Amino acid sequence: MIKKARIGLRVLFLLKCIPYQWIQKIIHKLVQPFLSIFDETTEQVLSKLTNNKKLIGILTYLCGDYVEMPSRSSFGIQALISDHYMGGGYFPIGGPSMIARIIVPIIEKSKGKAFVRAPVSSILLNEENKAIGVVVKGHRIFSRIVVSAISSTITYKYLIPQTHQHLVQSHLKIIESPELVSETGYMSMFIGHQGDSDELNLPKRNLWIFPSWNHDENTKKFHDDYNADFPGIFISFASAKDPTYHTRYLKKSVASIITAGIYEHVENYKDKRVKHRGDTYNQLKDQ
Ligand SMILES: Cc1cc2nc3c(=O)[nH]c(=O)nc-3n(C[C@H](O)[C@H](O)[C@H](O)COP(=O)(O)OP(=O)(O)OC[C@H]3O[C@@H](n4cnc5c(N)ncnc54)[C@H](O)[C@@H]3O)c2cc1C
Repeated sequence: MIKKARIGLRVLFLLKCIPYQWIQKIIHKLVQPFLSIFDETTEQVLSKLTNNKKLIGILTYLCGDYVEMPSRSSFGIQALISDHYMGGGYFPIGGPSMIARIIVPIIEKSKGKAFVRAPVSSILLNEENKAIGVVVKGHRIFSRIVVSAISSTITYKYLIPQTHQHLVQSHLKIIESPELVSETGYMSMFIGHQGDSDELNLPKRNLWIFPSWNHDENTKKFHDDYNADFPGIFISFASAKDPTYHTRYLKKSVASIITAGIYEHVENYKDKRVKHRGDTYNQLKDQ
């Protein structure tokens, strides 16, 4: 099934590269057997293979990676992420910033530019409704190709000018439908420790901790009550994975802890300033 998801994903990407929708539709019909895996939920597919609920819970432990319950997630995504971890995971030597350090000089060598703190406020469109550039801090930057690497909802809702919103309404309707809209986000915390990873016996592997193997029930309980157990806690020690960490930060280690975050739990504080959200917010964080 993982192989099928792998092929399905390639087919989906290739379909997107075809500029004519009518050709896309014909090919889509022909390759449907490879795509059906994306239409069924993880729970539907695994329930056909076993009725052992604990086994299903163990096989879907990585649902926290894509923050969706097995009853709602596409089996294709579950299969692709399982595939991603086959043979183990990787950590960039020198930390994730190495990715930018290596990629940016290559972009610049080709006369490109990489900007930071450069929020795009709008996508520029020509008379034929083609994207021809972006607006950044009032500056118009033109480009032959514009790729938005942020969420499609935000791209369509906030970056397409009001005058062209009607062009994306049908896409938005699909993305924001109850079956697709995401209900869960993340909360994360970094913790610094004195002592290196060997001294503290910190593992290189990631840890997942769940209150039970029923991920749907765990998520629903937490959704309804912030005081319920976190539906899943992820713990990872970058300092144990990166062999250069202790040369850069002597006798220090770091842990990254991630869990689900529900917007409604903190919605009341949405208009308050960071670090000035008041005592009740701080109490909520302390819990
Ligand atoms: C808590 C957490 C832990 C994770 N851990 C891992 C892990 O251990 N291993 C792993 O492989 N993956 C991990 N992931 C997943 C990984 O981070 C994402 O898959 C990856 O970052 C996606 O890259 P991206 O470029 O598509 O999006 P992003 O990394 O989200 O990049 C989008 C960028 O666009 C910027 N942006 C947004 N709006 C605008 C705008 N209007 N103008 C200009 N810029 C804008 C954002 O600030 C952001 O920098 C984790 C994700 C999360 C949330």
